[in-house]
Amino acid sequence: MHSICIFLGSNPGAEQVYARAARKMGKELAACGLTCVYGGSNKGLMKLLADSVLESGGKVVGVTVKALRDKEIFHPGLTKLHVVSTMHERKALMAELSDGFVALPGGVGTFEEFFEIYTLSLLGFHSKPFGLLDVNNYYAPLDALLDNAEREGFLKVPHRNVILRADNPADMIKRMVGK
Ligand code: AMP
Repeated sequence: MHSICIFLGSNPGAEQVYARAARKMGKELAACGLTCVYGGSNKGLMKLLADSVLESGGKVVGVTVKALRDKEIFHPGLTKLHVVSTMHERKALMAELSDGFVALPGGVGTFEEFFEIYTLSLLGFHSKPFGLLDVNNYYAPLDALLDNAEREGFLKVPHRNVILRADNPADMIKRMVGK
């Protein structure tokens, strides 16, 4: 495993615990020699993650979309920044460049990116590991939604268990590298 894609909020979140987790994730990736692939933004948790990897001597590859230049502000100091034309191309390139995927807390963009990786795995389009970093129990409501899907017969138990889980970056990386 050489690179991990991190999905996370373009906002900082309401509690400091989210910023701490983003910075810790950056530090751990650099310490493990894993390249960080992410959305290339210089805002919110995304910025904190990228800064932390770079400050720790690691590599960060951003993948962003031309039309988002004003909205997301491209990070100026990345190891490499890919600027593509569409959101679909963005997700496809992030997936191609990464050997695994982790979602930290974030908003609908983060959910969308995570669920695409999840569904493509269930359909057999890739077999890379992916997980949820459950900082501050942020993903408990998502678990409740998946519980309900399982109870109501829309999600099979084995399909539920493919998501790697951890509440801190070091454990998540250990789990992912061990796969
Ligand atoms: P958010 O979690 O909403 O703060 O968004 C996190 C990141 O996901 C931002 O860089 C968004 O531009 C990105 N994003 C949102 N929707 C999509 C999408 N459909 N495809 C690819 N990236 C997305």
